[in-house]
Amino acid sequence: MRKKGEKVTAFDPALAKLAKSMIDAMHEAAGIGLAAQQIGRALQLCVVDLRQAEVDFTWEFDGRPLPLDLWMPIAVVNPKITPIRGTEEVVAEEGCLSFPKIRGDVARPDAISVTFQDETGGTHILKADGLLARCIQHEADHLNGVLFIDRMDKKSRAGIEDAVKALAKETREAAKS
Ligand SMILES: [Zn+2]
Repeated sequence: MRKKGEKVTAFDPALAKLAKSMIDAMHEAAGIGLAAQQIGRALQLCVVDLRQAEVDFTWEFDGRPLPLDLWMPIAVVNPKITPIRGTEEVVAEEGCLSFPKIRGDVARPDAISVTFQDETGGTHILKADGLLARCIQHEADHLNGVLFIDRMDKKSRAGIEDAVKALAKETREAAKS
């Protein structure tokens, strides 16, 4: 999971199939986002679906407040994130499908603009704030080998140190067997 993802250049059926299987895995785990790194693929590809989340965020998809049902779940390929000028850093609790039982406070810019491609290669611009902006930043971090525990504030991090060590040990033992 520490590997930086390679840029996706082939928008072929194999990519669509991979995105579809990641969406299925995310739904199965009741998650709102999943990055390729989490299933062992170092690619600039993640999937996001916030239709089941409490919608306390705003967005513009390609310049319009398009209803979530019309564009989610979505594959986010080769994302480039820019915080919206003047936005504030907001602290909120995050979790991650790769770290079950671990949650902690992470500060991130509240509002972002992200340029990305979908699985067919079409380019989109999404402006978002709140949970949607946070989710995309969390997933885009995965694509660069960065984990939310790296960004956790000191207090949260200290509280989870034992759990992280136990998980690392479990993962090592699972890799051996
Ligand atoms: Zn995660």
